[in-house]
Amino acid sequence: MFGHYNVFVFILFFFSENGTDYQEMLLEMTGQKTVPNVFINKTHLGGCDRTLQAHKDGSLQHLLSGENEAYDYDLIVIGGGSGGLACSKEAAALGKKVMVLDYVVPTPKGTTWGLGGTCVNVGCIPKKLMHQTALLGTALQDARKFGWEFDETVKHNWDTMKTAVNSYIGSLNWGYRVALRDKNVNYVNAYAEFLEPHKIKAVNKRGKETFYTADKFVLATGERPRYLGIPGDKEYCITSDDLFSLPYCPGKTLLIGASYVSLECGGFLAGLGLDVTIMVRSILLRGFDQDMANRAGAHMEEHGIKFLRKYVPIKVEELEAGTPGRLKVTAKSTETDEIIEGEYNTVLIAVGRDACTDKIGLDKVGVKVNPKNGKVPVNDEEQTNVPHIFAIGDILEGKWELTPVAIQAGKLLARRLYGGSNVKCDYINVPTTVFTPLEYGSCGLPEEKAIELYGTENLEIFHSLLWPLEFTVPSRDNNQCYAKLICNKLDNDRVIGFHYLGPNAGEVTQGFGVAMKCGVTKEQLDGTIGIHPTCAELVLYICWSSRRSGLD
Ligand code: FAD
Ligand code: NAP
Repeated sequence: MFGHYNVFVFILFFFSENGTDYQEMLLEMTGQKTVPNVFINKTHLGGCDRTLQAHKDGSLQHLLSGENEAYDYDLIVIGGGSGGLACSKEAAALGKKVMVLDYVVPTPKGTTWGLGGTCVNVGCIPKKLMHQTALLGTALQDARKFGWEFDETVKHNWDTMKTAVNSYIGSLNWGYRVALRDKNVNYVNAYAEFLEPHKIKAVNKRGKETFYTADKFVLATGERPRYLGIPGDKEYCITSDDLFSLPYCPGKTLLIGASYVSLECGGFLAGLGLDVTIMVRSILLRGFDQDMANRAGAHMEEHGIKFLRKYVPIKVEELEAGTPGRLKVTAKSTETDEIIEGEYNTVLIAVGRDACTDKIGLDKVGVKVNPKNGKVPVNDEEQTNVPHIFAIGDILEGKWELTPVAIQAGKLLARRLYGGSNVKCDYINVPTTVFTPLEYGSCGLPEEKAIELYGTENLEIFHSLLWPLEFTVPSRDNNQCYAKLICNKLDNDRVIGFHYLGPNAGEVTQGFGVAMKCGVTKEQLDGTIGIHPTCAELVLYICWSSRRSGLD
């Protein structure tokens, strides 16, 4: 029927006795074993719903008319952050014609940055380097106990740190541009917005508009910090987007929010010697094991960080302009009518991040987003409800917001689209670390979630306080480091939750993450020989104390 287009549409219906074999084969080839299973021009389209949707959004007509070749690109990736760069480079390496567009909308304070997205410019990289700066301060104090003698007053210079960190970031920005050029990915520094299902408009910083078409699209636009919507927030406050390149030392700082960003930034600012207060609306680190979160918080409190618990800010006023100036913050209790006021040099808002999906024309092409949070729901192949538009990274609904997750999803998506692979991104048992002054690494379930899923009586929990050897001579932080393994008794004591609070948590947790991906059991950990003398070894030998959840 489509012969005159020189295309072949294969719709497979089968009722034969070999049906199950065909289904297995289809599942392997396409990830879908149900019928109808539609292929056009050797491209797998999907089942009935996807075919009807493709008809509605125009992509079916494009496929049938062989107009693919008329597109400018095989793939356009919108967003050059962790996920977008990984996906575009992989697609290009597989021989596709690829474009990636990246554009940073300046913050209300005017801060902007280069190619590479959040992680490189205003996330993981500067955060970890500033955390390291703070750890070096602690190491200096320890050093005296180990015999190092230095008389001069130890001071920290914000400008030196900021310049060094930002010059390293500059080298990464440059490296990404070179890598894209080497891999033949066309990089355009412009803001992209859909006009039609296969057509976008790109606007550069001078306002020049250019139009591009592609067969497929990947959305990788990430998130940006949310503001509070209270008087004075955008005028006087900063966010993590401004902090890492702040041209002056922030001074006495109030951080609003109690998750990753707030605790990490508050942690390193205090480590630099600044007066730090964290305003907590409800709990610390929602979603994480609360026992661990509170231990990390208690350690911060013990090291001078103040917590204002159960308050939310209602206005921020400027008392004096300057670098830094002086701000007055008014907050109200979440439990009573109490109103409090405080004076700070800097107020950093860290109350979550909004997905950048509202101004990219998704309504014009019919991509569904969750109206409550702007997140994009996808199937297990990162495909949106519009079959030729995919999404990865922080904008995904219900997935981890972490760099390695965005990278893995982007790389595997490109391999499935263009490399004949059917490997999907595994979002289960993703290890992560919160870089608080005492770092907290975890993988798998928090204790609360494990109880909800399996019941207290079916869990065996192994836990212990640890005292890292390095802390013994300086005699610090005794009874602060802690580790916990949550095992499922119904499944051979398989480890379903790993939690570690202590130095080098990222390094310690990574290995346990591998073990958990392989389905490690308590017995196998017991049979593993440790590396002495390390903290990871102490976690491995965590058989000193076991309890059932809830019963100590
Ligand atoms: P992003 O990296 O945010 O990239 C999206 C890019 O798209 C941006 O450059 C954006 O400007 C651009 N863009 C948006 N809209 C458009 C458009 N219409 N046209 C063109 N370009 C557009 N993760 C970790 O794993 N470890 C950490 O230690 C860690 N620390 C963090 C610390 C902080 C302070 C923050 C904020 C985040 C941290 N994260 C960390 C999370 C990590 O940064 C993100 O998960 C990761 O960057 C997500 O990658 P992405 O590709 O989804 O988006
Ligand atoms: P988040 O996890 O969404 O947490 C938001 C915090 O702000 C919560 O403590 C929340 O309190 C509080 N909050 C929200 N609205 C508020 C309001 N109106 N007033 C006062 N407090 C309010 O956000 P995030 O810390 O920005 O982190 C975003 C993501 O980035 C994380 O999910 C993480 O994946 C990623 N990240 C990773 C790392 C890392 O890997 N080390 C580091 C930083 C960020 P409630 O609990 O009361 O809601």
